[in-house]
Formats: sequence, structure tokens, C-alpha cells
Amino acid sequence: MAILVTGGAGYVGSHMAHALVDRGEDVVVIDDLSTGHRELIPEKAKLVEGDIADKKLVSKLIADERINAIAHFAGSIVVSDSVSDPLTYYENNTVKSRALIETAVASSIEAFLFSSTAAVYGEPGVDLLDEEQNLQPVSPYGWSKLMTEVMLRDSAAAYGLKYAALRYFNVAGADPEGRTGETREHATHLIEIAAQAATGRRNRMQIFGTDYPTPDGTCLRDYIHVTDLIDAHVKALMHLLNGGENFVANCGYGHGFSVLQVVDAIKRVSGVDFRVDMAERRPGDPPALVADSARVREILGWEPKYDDLETIVRHALAWEDQLVKGRVKL
Ligand code: UDP
Repeated sequence: MAILVTGGAGYVGSHMAHALVDRGEDVVVIDDLSTGHRELIPEKAKLVEGDIADKKLVSKLIADERINAIAHFAGSIVVSDSVSDPLTYYENNTVKSRALIETAVASSIEAFLFSSTAAVYGEPGVDLLDEEQNLQPVSPYGWSKLMTEVMLRDSAAAYGLKYAALRYFNVAGADPEGRTGETREHATHLIEIAAQAATGRRNRMQIFGTDYPTPDGTCLRDYIHVTDLIDAHVKALMHLLNGGENFVANCGYGHGFSVLQVVDAIKRVSGVDFRVDMAERRPGDPPALVADSARVREILGWEPKYDDLETIVRHALAWEDQLVKGRVKL
């Protein structure tokens, strides 16, 4: 038996591939390498360069490699790009997922994990977001992921597909062993950008909005260490394979940090006082996005190990440092 990891050459997917290989599982990665890097994949995993929507390729792979479960991470993730080019997002995230789900059903896959997002929620009106809140995404990205959740829900009802959709809050940090991390030159995530500023890959950064209705005026987000996120995936996989119920759950810690707190933590941990400019609000940013994480804890017995901003930042910086020093070749 083996597990197919789509998007396994990307940030979150590569952490999953490592976690599964560490557990002694057989792992096959399918990735078109449009944004991913083969260097991030564990040596023991097999890489197939290809399209997840290629039904012939994927069903042959499932048969040849005796794949019984799929962890689906492949997709496009830049919210602002989804606003300027929605059809590309619906193609990459919704249409291709439909094809993959069809192949999974036709091949009698036993468990399907889906990488979803807190962007499925509309403008939040409450402190903690539970899974039933206001499913009215404000971006095509959020809709593209929500539509995939709907296809999974309906496929479960109609064909008996076993699945779990995990809605990520702000994923950050890197593999504590330094084997993989975020790599984008054109970073968009706060911790990634601040880590680039601290390691000299950029000479300054901006804080988008200082007049939000929050304690220090900057936005609050629930930053979750990628390794804890992956631990939830591994537990979700085992849960499904052991006959557990299908579910949709938030992945976050249940508390937030402001942009200023994050930037301060990066300056403190790195010891670098990089330039930070105060800027206008970025369109579409809600003041606070914090998970109600009761469900994932309850269903999976998940307990985070890295629920500490300094640790998240330290791991992000260590990875960034390896990139800057050329110790990781991409
Ligand atoms: N942010 C910022 N400067 C940056 C990047 C992000 O001030 O260079 C802020 C952004 O406005 C938001 C928070 O950091 O309030 C988290 O943004 P990110 O893009 O990391 O994740 P999002 O919450 O949008 O998914």
C-alpha cells in the first residue's frame, strides 16, 4: 500500500511526504513542478512529474503503485491572483480537483485528504471561527476550495468516498530538521516575507494597515506550525483508514498574534533590525482570523507540539538562512 501526495514538491505537501516517509510509508508524489521543487521531496519518495487531472496517468499510477490513499495539496494559493485571474484558479483548484476525485472514486481509494483553507469563511463576525460560520468566501480562491469541499461531500454521499478536508489558518515555519520549507521568491506570507527581510533576501518590508480594530491596530492571525498541521493530516489519514467518520475541520491553534507581534518576534529571534514601513491596508484583509480548533482536537486527539511563536519563527529563519547560504540547492 502507498500514499499519493499531490503537490508533494510544494511547501505543505513536501512536509507531508517527509512525515509519511519518516513513518515508513511508501510515498508517491505527483507534481507538475510549476511552483514546487524536486529537491524538497524525500529521497525515498517516488516523484512523478505530471498533471493530477490526467485521469489515465493517475489511475495507472494508483494501480501500479498500489495506492490506497490520496493527500491532495496541489493547487494555486495566492488570493490576490485569484481575484485578477479567477478562471485559472477555478481550473487549477476546482476543475483539476474534480478530475482527481473522479479518479479516486473510480479507483476505490480508501481515504482522501484535502488541503482546504480558512478563506472559505466570509467576513468573520465573531472572535473564534468554527466550521459552521458564514461559508461565503470573499475571494475566488476561497470559492475554488469551497467548491472542492462540496464535491467531496457529495461524492461521499453518492459513492461512499471517505474524506477529510482540513481548513488551514496561517501556516508558517519549516521542518525542524531543516529538510524543507517555503521557497517562493515572490513571497506573500507575513512570516516568509519578514524572514526574507531578516536574512537579507529583501531590504525592507511593509505592514499593511495599522488602523484595524485590534489591540495594536494591526491584523490578528492564527499562525500554525507546518509540522503540527502535518501531524493533523497524518492523524486524519489514520482516522479514515481505521473506519473513522468523514469530517471537515479547522487547523489552527485557537489564538492569534498581530502583525506587529510577528515582526517583533522575527527581529528579536534573528537579532536583525530590518526596515519596516507602515503602509495602507491590503484589500480584502479581515481584522482577525482565529480558529476555533475544538473539532480537530476532539476528532483526532490532535495536540500541537509547536504552539509557540518564537519556535515557528526560529524554524522559518533557519530554513531561510539555508536558502540564503546556498546550503539548500533549488
Ligand atoms: N502582511 C503584512 N505585510 C506583508 C505581508 C502580510 O503586513 O508583507 C499582513 C497581512 O496584511 C495580514 C497578515 O500579515 O494582515 C497575514 O497575511 P498573510 O498574507 O501572511 O496571510 P493571510 O492571512 O492573508 O492568509
